[in-house]
Amino acid sequence: MKFLGLEDKVILVTGGNRGIGAAIVHLLQSLGAKVAYTYRNEPHPEIEAFAVQADVTDKTAMEMVIEQVEQKLGMIYGVVANAGVTCDRLFHKITSDDWDTVIDTNLKGVYHTFSPIIPKLYEQGEGSLVSITSISGERGNLGQTNYSASKSALIGLTKSLAREAARYGVRVNAVSPGFIETEMVQAIPDKVKERILAEIPLGRFGQPEEIAWAVAFLLSPIASRYITGEVLRVNGAHHT
Ligand code: NDP
Repeated sequence: MKFLGLEDKVILVTGGNRGIGAAIVHLLQSLGAKVAYTYRNEPHPEIEAFAVQADVTDKTAMEMVIEQVEQKLGMIYGVVANAGVTCDRLFHKITSDDWDTVIDTNLKGVYHTFSPIIPKLYEQGEGSLVSITSISGERGNLGQTNYSASKSALIGLTKSLAREAARYGVRVNAVSPGFIETEMVQAIPDKVKERILAEIPLGRFGQPEEIAWAVAFLLSPIASRYITGEVLRVNGAHHT
């Protein structure tokens, strides 16, 4: 039986201490990858993986993360830019701080995550980068202009970088989750959650593991080797 070909591949996941990121770390480990993850506040209490504290808004810190992971685990094959935040507010109430926090984390943070590794992957002649965009970036959402803008921008980044990286054997894709049961969704008021749930044909929110499997597929040098510049929707048919 063929597996996904991730055995012994070194993979870095940002924001791997909880939510979707922790599910990704856990699954990749079970598939035999050597996984490192970043956290901002507290590492995961149970997951045993190489954990580095770093804020994705800090370019120098992210450069150091790549160095530390390579020293500890060897040459990196894959990076999952998962860390993200929301600062939800209606557009007419949004502050510059709300705007900057979300754009700096969700968009510039991905630039900081991918830019130090890209030259190394080009030299290696292989690699797979995956970012986590969102259904809100595809169809918009009330109170999420900043978040939607950051996540739509990731789709453009994915498609452009995929075109640049293809000649070096490096693939770049994104997963676009619908509403997934993590602290991010738990923060949504109950009334709004009921309205969202009624719109999801599969009749439930997604689970973090369901996003992790999509990420593992896109990282795989076997299963997705002809896929790049793609946005894989995992949303229970909650389409635009
Ligand atoms: P959580 O709020 O559960 O976790 C967010 C993660 O991002 C945490 O690990 C957090 O670290 C980390 N993080 C936040 N800001 C920074 C920062 N500045 N530097 C480093 N790490 C940071 O979110 P989810 O697991 O739900 O979301 C994960 C990704 O999936 C995000 O990009 C999100 O936008 C996206 N997504 C989520 C959906 C959902 O329904 N849950 C739907 C669509 C997309 P710490 O714990 O240390 O603060």
